[in-house]
Amino acid sequence: MLNIVIFGAPGAGKGTQSDLLVERYNLNHISTGDLLRKEIAAQSELGKRIKSIMDSGNLVSDDIVVAMIDQAIATDTQGLLFDGFPRNVSQAETLDKLLEKHGRKLTCVVSLDVPRDELVRRMLERAKVSGRSDDNEVTIMNRLKEYEAKTKPVADFYEKKGLHVKVNGTGDIKAISQSVIAEIDKRK
Ligand code: AMP
Repeated sequence: MLNIVIFGAPGAGKGTQSDLLVERYNLNHISTGDLLRKEIAAQSELGKRIKSIMDSGNLVSDDIVVAMIDQAIATDTQGLLFDGFPRNVSQAETLDKLLEKHGRKLTCVVSLDVPRDELVRRMLERAKVSGRSDDNEVTIMNRLKEYEAKTKPVADFYEKKGLHVKVNGTGDIKAISQSVIAEIDKRK
C-alpha cells in the first residue's frame, strides 16, 4: 500500500498535486489543514482555539494534528497521501512510529520546489478568491517564516533516510504531476 507525503512550502501546489495523485492512485487524501478547517467550521471549543492560531500563521500544537493522523492511519484501507503533515521534525518522528504501529512504511516524500517570490505571488493571488482568513499578506509572511524555521528541516530528515525526492514545482500543472508520478512509480 502506498504511503506518500507531498511536501513543500505554503503555496507550492500541494493541494493541486494531491487532487491529481488521488485520481491516479486512489489514495486517501489526509490534509491536516482541511481537517483543522473542518474543526473550525464545526465551531467546537477546539475549533475556536485552532482558528486563532491558524489566523496568526503559526503552527497548531502537535498533539492536535497527531491525534487526527493517528485516526486516519488506523481507519485507512486504500493507501495514504499526507498533505501538510509532517510540519516539523517531531511530527515526522511521530509519523514513523504511527506507521510502524500499523505495519506500514513511507513510500517516499515528494517535495515541490518553488522559489520564494513565486510562492508569495501565488498566495497573494489565491488570497483574492480563497476566502481563507489566513490568506492575507501579514499571515502569509508568517506562514513562510514558520515553514523556513520548522518545516524545511523535515526535508533533511527524510533526505538522510533516502526517502526524499525533489520535483520542480513551477510550470504546467500536468507536467509537474507527471514528474511527481514518475518519481512515485520508481519507488512503489
Ligand atoms: P495548510 O492548509 O496546510 O496551508 O495549513 C493551514 C494552517 O493550518 C497552517 O498555517 C497551520 O496553522 C495549520 N496546520 C496545518 N497542518 C499543520 C500541521 N501538520 N501542524 C501544525 N499546524 C498545521
